[in-house]
Amino acid sequence: MSERTMFPAKGRAREELWAALETMRDGDADWRHGRVPLYVFGSLPEVEAVGRDAYAAYFTENALGARRAFGSLARMEGEVVAMSLDLFQAPQTATGSMTSGGSESILLAVKACREDARRRRGDAAFRGNLVLAETAHPAFDKAARLMDLPVRRVPAGADYRADARAMAAAIDRDTMMLVGSVPCFPFGVIDPIGELSELASSRDLWLHVDACVGGYLAPFARAAGHPVPPFDFALPGVVSMSADLHKFGFCPKPASVVLFRDQQRADGAGFDLDVWPSGRFRTGTLVGTRPGGAVAGAWAVLNYLGRDGYTMIASRLIAMRQAYVEGIEAIAPLRVFGKPDLTIFAFGAPGLDMAGVAKGMETRGWVPGMISRPPGMHMMASLLHEAARADYLADLSAAVAAAPRIQQDSVSAEY
Ligand SMILES: *Cc1c(COP(=O)(O)O)cnc(C)c1O
Repeated sequence: MSERTMFPAKGRAREELWAALETMRDGDADWRHGRVPLYVFGSLPEVEAVGRDAYAAYFTENALGARRAFGSLARMEGEVVAMSLDLFQAPQTATGSMTSGGSESILLAVKACREDARRRRGDAAFRGNLVLAETAHPAFDKAARLMDLPVRRVPAGADYRADARAMAAAIDRDTMMLVGSVPCFPFGVIDPIGELSELASSRDLWLHVDACVGGYLAPFARAAGHPVPPFDFALPGVVSMSADLHKFGFCPKPASVVLFRDQQRADGAGFDLDVWPSGRFRTGTLVGTRPGGAVAGAWAVLNYLGRDGYTMIASRLIAMRQAYVEGIEAIAPLRVFGKPDLTIFAFGAPGLDMAGVAKGMETRGWVPGMISRPPGMHMMASLLHEAARADYLADLSAAVAAAPRIQQDSVSAEY
């Protein structure tokens, strides 16, 4: 067992620490050259610089104090939310907040839905259930566990998209929320939000659209001429949305938004308490102290890129995804699962040991993204992956050639 690190008795010199920070990274995966298929999202070097500089400019300010001390942050947060409401075609009644990420945005939407259901049913202990496709993000279950709510995961269709009919069949009198993803994380396909919106309206249910990963990409892919089905507040059944600025919004972490169709349904997301000696304590979101830098960074990046900048990037991203998909499908017997709508995709092949392929990629210096049902590899491609494509495909081809073939009947029945 290694010795536990002791709390330093004396401070150390900055130069020494800087050198340590630099060398500590030596063993990290080479994300700058596209070797990491998730966690980091790159666009253009100048966008990264704009986000970083804006973050640094508001490094010390605390967004918890936006109302009372930092009018700058209140204004920037308000503008980020307003710009996002505009992007997602929300009515003028709509509102929202910046949060620390998709998980927090989803948690707040689930909480707001629960409070709304409790208010409408006049039952302060009501524990309504959530109906979602098996492809929806685990953040819904995380939120549900925290609030002790039941979750019903329903199999997706053969195209890996949420199956609105199967979801309808899972609804009962205690159902309060339906979820659709834009796109889902495992396969990168956009759920039929139009059908889910109709279902939600006809059953008087709350539809949450989880556009965490695709929210700041899908509208611009559409603007660039690629087919993207309706998915936002233009659909009347959509009550809330989550969209991560720190994914394909290319803003510094931690930054996301949660948006609500109207103030009444947003109310339940907030927190307001007056029991302690310091007086009334109010927060719109879950966390208390929040980095001012994340607010300034998001504000700066959205304004730096604008619709035209994001559309230009989306256009490059979709062309890149297409090239990856074609390159992967040129390697027999690999097949991409479904028809990815944006730049997330997964692939595999029955009879091929995909864990072996992943191992082969790992030994060639790639962090392999994985998917388990069906067994395959996964990638969330940003512009960091553009220049890496030829090397990736060459190594993938070699890894596939070296991977063992396995018995067809030992492959998951999911195929
Ligand atoms: C990333 C992601 C989330 C969670 O977001 P975090 O920022 O990691 O908390 C939720 N839903 C989808 C579809 C995602 O891709």
